[in-house]
Amino acid sequence: MSTQDLLAKIGQSQEESEFYTPMPAGYQPNKHRYVVVVGTVMSGLGKGIFSSSLAKLLKDKGLTVAPIKMEGYLNIDSGTLNPYRHGEVFVLDDGMECDMDLGTYERLLDQDLSGANFTTNGQILSSVLRKEREGGYLGRDVQVIPHVVGEIKLKLRQLAVQSNADVVFVEIGGTVGDYENSFYLEACRQLAFEEGEGSVCFVALTYVLEPSILGEQKSKAAQLGIKRLMEMGIMPHIIACRSSNPITEKVRQKISVYTNVSMRRVFSMHDAESIYVIPERLREAGIDREVLTLLSLHDRVDQRHEDQERARWRWYSERIGKYSKSVTIGLTGKYAALRDAYASVIKAAEHCSVHLGVDVRFKFIETTDVDAGNVAEQLADCHGIIVPGGFGVRGTEGKIECIRHARENKMPYLGLCLGFQVAVIEYARNVCKLPDANSTEFAPTCANPVIDILPEQKKIEGLGGNMRLGGKDVDVTAGSLVSRLYDNATRIHLRFRHRYEVDPRYVPILEKHGMIFSGKAPNHPIMQVLELPQDVHPFFVGTQAHPELTSRPLRPSPFFMGLIRAAIEYAEKSTGKTGGASATGRNPQQKPDTVASA
Ligand code: GLN
Repeated sequence: MSTQDLLAKIGQSQEESEFYTPMPAGYQPNKHRYVVVVGTVMSGLGKGIFSSSLAKLLKDKGLTVAPIKMEGYLNIDSGTLNPYRHGEVFVLDDGMECDMDLGTYERLLDQDLSGANFTTNGQILSSVLRKEREGGYLGRDVQVIPHVVGEIKLKLRQLAVQSNADVVFVEIGGTVGDYENSFYLEACRQLAFEEGEGSVCFVALTYVLEPSILGEQKSKAAQLGIKRLMEMGIMPHIIACRSSNPITEKVRQKISVYTNVSMRRVFSMHDAESIYVIPERLREAGIDREVLTLLSLHDRVDQRHEDQERARWRWYSERIGKYSKSVTIGLTGKYAALRDAYASVIKAAEHCSVHLGVDVRFKFIETTDVDAGNVAEQLADCHGIIVPGGFGVRGTEGKIECIRHARENKMPYLGLCLGFQVAVIEYARNVCKLPDANSTEFAPTCANPVIDILPEQKKIEGLGGNMRLGGKDVDVTAGSLVSRLYDNATRIHLRFRHRYEVDPRYVPILEKHGMIFSGKAPNHPIMQVLELPQDVHPFFVGTQAHPELTSRPLRPSPFFMGLIRAAIEYAEKSTGKTGGASATGRNPQQKPDTVASA
């Protein structure tokens, strides 16, 4: 079928038609397939983890995959969302600030994503309104149906064309029944009709309750949730059941009976010890095979590629949790808020765990309580410290105390973005003897603003979209510690999200006192990486970037690898040996890494 035929089929050629389906240039019907993942019963089931694991299985088979997360909120991006409410703001290489699920996709697929892989109702609606002002709707009244859903279908097909995807994975945020996500469901229902039988596979991720008072699994909520989906005209092809324990045969049968989905397409997706074992679990359960059959994709499979990728992944996933030693890293921030707010930092350390065979435990340090008097006690059981990114003055003096302690006691230190800036402040105050050194973010009128707002950003007003964002090249000094971490590279690529930077006027005095700026922006006096000479300190490194965002299971971040290696040495020196692994191989403060929570 040609695009013309497809448009004719859906009535697009008739001028006064109720149909409205804008098609991107170059769209080839029958070429692309879509897997739409929706949640029922409740949110937080790990749709992103499920969807990215399934996408990974198809990618391993040599297919090209393109995920997209569709958010129901009206914000244009996630940039102004509070990470303590919504989890970390994940920054893509093109500077898009998006939901943390995009991090899961990038890590599991080992693929850089862009703004095309993320949308919100805000983006969809503003593009409809812009088109309306530009006269794009030919005198028609503009409606949710067909225009808003038409815009959603356009976005999905644009992604298909742009990424040349065999399969586009569409993750719809929230839960079936939410008003804000209903446009997306309606758009996907229409897309399935337009693309034709065998082009769109709907997967319902549902939840099977197991109340402790009953001691058995109950499927009613799952049945009702799927019924709700069917009321919207969508018959799921596959049902994946989240639960704490494996789903019983009886419950699978019940779900199958009530939903017209055959037993071999009702899967158990019970909790896993790590998200990285999910792809292999799905493969063992045969979900990938069912998707290939439903979408007639068996002939696009490259078996050799799959075998190679599977072996590479198993190397990683089979080592998770099998650690003979452990180190404790102090992470400044409040634990309750940290797990999601610093998801990528925790993941980046986990990647190193597997590569170095060491259990990395985090000790969460609430720095508002830290001062010169108690810092040594607070960090006594730590073998390294990370000060992660952040905004605002709260807790900064405590962070500065932690850094001073790490610097003076040769405890490995890694500063990420804000952690880079406060390391400069600490050094300026305590080594360069500029006692009032500060950042204008925390003390706008301080006498020595070693950290100040970026000159090119000073003119920009407002809060949304005025940061230095996305992937940028960094020139690295040959022979420096950071260059060695990157296999002697002299140019590396990192992701950024900041407003403030080191004021270049203070660089000479900081350098004179021994601080080394080993990474700089090409052609700009923007300091991007700092380190101390290794004869002074074994590992004292900060970066204005967020290397945690680009750490991948099979390609862990060199910054984190450097820190953890140094922490192992520090632990061996200070106690004679690294701590034994805990029975569970994980931090007692941390929840087990379940599909729902990771
Ligand atoms: N608040 C600092 C700035 O805007 C650091 C930002 C961050 O850590 N992401 O530059």
